[in-house]
Amino acid sequence: MATATESAHAALHARHLAVAPDWLATYYARPIELTHGEGRHVWDAEGTRYLDFFGGILTTMTAHALPEVTAAVTEQAGKILHSSTLYLSRQAVELAERIARLSGIPDARVFFTTSGTEANDTALLLATTYRRSNQVLALRNSYHGRSFTSIGITGNTAWSPTSLSPLQTLYVHGGVRSRGPYAHLTDAQFTAACVADLEDILGQANGTVAALIAEPVQGVGGFTSGPDGLLAAFKEVLDRHGILWITDEVQTGWGRTGDNFWGWQAHSGSGTPDILTFAKGVGNGMSMGGVVARAEVMNCLGANSISTFGGSPITTAAALANLGYLIDHDLQGNARRVGGLLKSRLTAITAGLGIVREVRGRGLMLGVELVEPGTDTPSAAAASAVLEAAREHGLLIGKGGLAGNVLRIAPPLSLTVAEAEEGAEALEAALKQAQAELE
Ligand code: PLP
Repeated sequence: MATATESAHAALHARHLAVAPDWLATYYARPIELTHGEGRHVWDAEGTRYLDFFGGILTTMTAHALPEVTAAVTEQAGKILHSSTLYLSRQAVELAERIARLSGIPDARVFFTTSGTEANDTALLLATTYRRSNQVLALRNSYHGRSFTSIGITGNTAWSPTSLSPLQTLYVHGGVRSRGPYAHLTDAQFTAACVADLEDILGQANGTVAALIAEPVQGVGGFTSGPDGLLAAFKEVLDRHGILWITDEVQTGWGRTGDNFWGWQAHSGSGTPDILTFAKGVGNGMSMGGVVARAEVMNCLGANSISTFGGSPITTAAALANLGYLIDHDLQGNARRVGGLLKSRLTAITAGLGIVREVRGRGLMLGVELVEPGTDTPSAAAASAVLEAAREHGLLIGKGGLAGNVLRIAPPLSLTVAEAEEGAEALEAALKQAQAELE
C-alpha cells in the first residue's frame, strides 16, 4: 500500500503530466520534488536527503541556501523588487563593473538578461548587426538555448527540433575530441583537421560570416572539448576574415573548470573573445544572465532597447553576494583541488567497469561516458540506469551527450573532500548496480 506521501507525489506527477509540454525534459521515472537545500545537499518532499552532484543545472554555484545570498535577497526583497533599466541601480552598476573587469575583454560593456538563452540571442543580435550578416559558425554537438535563434545555432540534434531558424548556421568540427572522424588523430593533427574543416566551410559561405559561437567545454554535449591550441588556431582564421568570436560561458564561467575563471582561458594563445555570454551560476539559482562585449560591438545596435527584468535589483543583489563569496573563498581553487581529487577517484573506481568508456573534464565539470558493457556503443540506457541507481544511493547527477550517454558531475564549487569521497562511493555503487542490470 502506498503511503500518504507517495500518493501525494503520484497525484502531483499526474497533474504535471497533464499540463506540461510533452517535450519538457524531466529526470527519473518517478521525478523528484525538491523542497529545500543546504550546502551541497538537497531534500525532497518525502524527506530524503541527497548529495547534489549537479548543482541544480550548474546553477547553484557556491552552495544551497548560502546565508550571504539569502541575506542579500531578503534585504533587497524588503526594499524594492523591481525598478527596470530605465532607472539607475547601484548594485547593477557594481555588478557590471565587476563582471567587466573579470571578463578580460578590453573596453567592456555589460548587458544583463534573465537567462543564458536570452544572453546568446543578444550576442547573435550584436554580431549579426555588427557584421551585417546572418551567417554564423557554430560547433557540431553544441547547445546554446531554446529560443528560435539559439536553437538555430544548437548542433545537438536531441535539443534542436526546428530547422526554420532565421540564421544560416555553418557547423564545424572541434567540440568533441574522442569520437567522430578525427578521433584517431593526435591533438596537433586534430587541430589541423578542424582548421581545414573551418576553412572549407568558409569557402562555401555566402559572403560575410558574422561570428563563431563556441562553448569552451560543451555542456549539454557531454562535458567535452577540443584540445588546447584549437581555439588559438581557429582565432587566427577568424581574424583573417574579420569574424567575431563569441564564447558561451553559460556552463564554464566563474571558475567551474578550476584552472581558469572562464573556460576560454584554458585555450592558450587564443587572444580575447569579442563577446562573452554568461548565466546559470552567477546568481546561485536566481534567473540571471548577460552579455559582455567590446564597446564598439555592444554599441552597434543604434536603437533603443531595454530588458524589463534583466539586471533587476534582486538578481543583481544575489549575484554580487554570490560572486563576492566565490572570490573571497577562492572557490575556483577549491574546484581545481577537489575536482582533481574527484577525477582521480572516478578514474580509479571505473577502471574495471565495462560500461565506462572515459572519465573526462576539468575542475568540477566532470563527465563519465557510458557504453553498452564491453563495447564502444554509446548507451543512453546505461546513463538512465546509473541516474536511478545513484538516486537510491542518495546522489543526484546529470546526464547529457549527443547520445544521452554521458554522466555529468557539476556540484556546487564549495564541495568538500569528504563530500567528494561520499559522492564517489555512491557513484561506484550505482555504476556497479547499473552494469549488473544491463549485462
Ligand atoms: N548555453 C549553454 C552552454 C547552456 O548550457 C545553456 C543551458 O543549459 C544555455 C546556453 C541556455 O541557458 P538557459 O537555459 O538559461 O536559457
